[in-house]
Amino acid sequence: MIGWVIGGLVNWAADVLPGLQPGERPDFSAVWRARAHYWVLTWWRQRQGVCPHCEQKLKRRHLAVNLIAIILTTAMALHWGWALETIVGWLYVFFFLAVTVIDFEHHRVLNIMIAPAALVAALISLLPIAPEPLSVVLGGMVGFGLFLLLALIGRGALGMGDVKLAGVIGMMLGFPNVITALMVGAILGGVGAAVMLITRKATRKTAIAYAPYLAFGALLTIWWKLRIF
Ligand SMILES: [Zn+2]
Repeated sequence: MIGWVIGGLVNWAADVLPGLQPGERPDFSAVWRARAHYWVLTWWRQRQGVCPHCEQKLKRRHLAVNLIAIILTTAMALHWGWALETIVGWLYVFFFLAVTVIDFEHHRVLNIMIAPAALVAALISLLPIAPEPLSVVLGGMVGFGLFLLLALIGRGALGMGDVKLAGVIGMMLGFPNVITALMVGAILGGVGAAVMLITRKATRKTAIAYAPYLAFGALLTIWWKLRIF
């Protein structure tokens, strides 16, 4: 159920948020008005991907996101049971899935997602489960600082969006788990880039979307470490 809700919200975020002008407010009422457009599992097969709301042929991403969200949220519920960790994990599944889809499709990490995520991570640090407030501050500084350094050395290979994302991941995981998360993300990103070079889907000059790898590394580390904070 929760996975169903989250998957549709991710589709909404990925469709609506990248098109916003600076300072413009997202249209939340569309979540309900155009719900068939974001929650596609019930009609996808009969209509072969043609949305009953707007009659457009939707991307396969709409279907994939619905399915992946259900799988991830169910896996987290089975892992943690009825615990605060599960609810926090669900919030982070929403955030990381949306960041991943938007970075793949637009090569951007949006401030409108980063800022609320930083606030939520700070609030979660006040709960008895997640990393302690001091560890959150330290994790955020280390993540942001490390990637800022890499961005300066790499001269454009990493965008400021990736740097801010690394800071937020640091806040979610705290110190020292931020190091594990970013290293897992960097290794996954390296493997991904190598595969793309070998299969010639990319050349050395192609800009690679790093955020999905960082997101996946963070999610794996949250799953693995959140219990033992
Ligand atoms: Zn539609």
